[in-house]
Amino acid sequence: MKTNNFDREHLWHPYTSALNPIPTYEVERADGVYIQLKNGKKLIDGMSSWWAAVHGYNHPVLNRAAQKQLSKMSHIMFGGLTHSPAIELGEKLLTLVPEKLQKIFYCDSGSVAVEVALKMAVQYWYAQGKNEKTNFVTIRSGYHGDTWNAMSVCDPVTGMHSIFGNSLPHRYFVPSPSCRFYDDWDENCIVPLKECIKAHHENIAALILEPIVQGAGGMRFYHPQYLKAAKKLCEEYHLLLIFDEIATGFGRTGKLFACEHANVSPDIMCIGKALTGGYLTMAAALSTNHVADVISSGFPGVFMHGPTFMGNPLACAISLSSVNLLLENNWEMQVKSIEAQLKEDLSPAKEYSQVADVRVLGAIGVIEMREVVDMSKIQCQFVEHGVWVRPFGKLVYIMPPYIINPDQLTRLTSALLSVVSKQ
Ligand code: PMP
Repeated sequence: MKTNNFDREHLWHPYTSALNPIPTYEVERADGVYIQLKNGKKLIDGMSSWWAAVHGYNHPVLNRAAQKQLSKMSHIMFGGLTHSPAIELGEKLLTLVPEKLQKIFYCDSGSVAVEVALKMAVQYWYAQGKNEKTNFVTIRSGYHGDTWNAMSVCDPVTGMHSIFGNSLPHRYFVPSPSCRFYDDWDENCIVPLKECIKAHHENIAALILEPIVQGAGGMRFYHPQYLKAAKKLCEEYHLLLIFDEIATGFGRTGKLFACEHANVSPDIMCIGKALTGGYLTMAAALSTNHVADVISSGFPGVFMHGPTFMGNPLACAISLSSVNLLLENNWEMQVKSIEAQLKEDLSPAKEYSQVADVRVLGAIGVIEMREVVDMSKIQCQFVEHGVWVRPFGKLVYIMPPYIINPDQLTRLTSALLSVVSKQ
């Protein structure tokens, strides 16, 4: 398969060299779990377009919602105006998220939602005269997006800190939780976070974490008790707690939001990706009334953020339809059956000498290799097997659309085993 020349010469792809880009595959269309390439090849999607397309592609219900909204308005500014897609989506979201979260700030992408959450935390303390509480603490192996401050709280190694060096603000990092999801809880696991917060709480505004599943920073699943202990520390030392549920939200880990594994509610929570069912870019930062009220009662009396495409009606209408579909489709059953099959199908890989670890949680299956994979080679092999899987580093992983059926999932997992065994 040859890459389109214009694409190769002029279009920059994510994390890709302009001098020597690895080939891209031209997509003609996508329907359900299938991605149809221009060369006629049909691939089963293992990535949900990076956690987003939970209902698969070209879904008639989401298409109808988009068309209906398009016939009214695609976009209208949110400053001074409002509309029913934003209101109805908000009403629906509040029935699903932890109940203390009562204020919704819509924004345009996951990274922006993280920026907004970090700004809320700083403004919350500023409003109370605590001008020194401006920094953040987080755990290693995290990923929160590619914009400046989001990048500053990503893992320093995988998050590119060495490249951007001193131009990035310096954050407090503690080791990633040593206690894995399926391990017994060990109190020592929280000690590094405790010591860091104890020493530096006076200039820390918030702790930011991806609850339970650390995604692009390492695909690690950690113990729910860590979140409980972290929440306690935040209360004790006066830090806000921010959960980044951008990847984990909307059922992916087996709970609607991953924080439900620990029954812990944050002060601020970011959502995105699957919010629109993967149709458009849209995210939100939600906060408690308390956070919003404190911000609004200090100087300058307003929260200082307002993106052009905030509350985009088209994205809101599709999101509402996607969330309703998730509930109608019984996402919990879908995710449970994917989880059971992934556990069974991927377990033979544990015996492969190339494989360091195999882990499954919800509709996420991870094969961690001993060595970094050769992307251009492995990408080709997956396409030859008729599946779309995009590994990074040592991690070969899948998070398929929830609508995948057992036969399609078998095709995906057997391709995974076959390709992995040949590395
Ligand atoms: N947070 C997490 C946990 C993510 O996985 C991502 C995207 N991979 C982001 C934030 C950033 O979202 P976006 O790419 O929409 O800016």
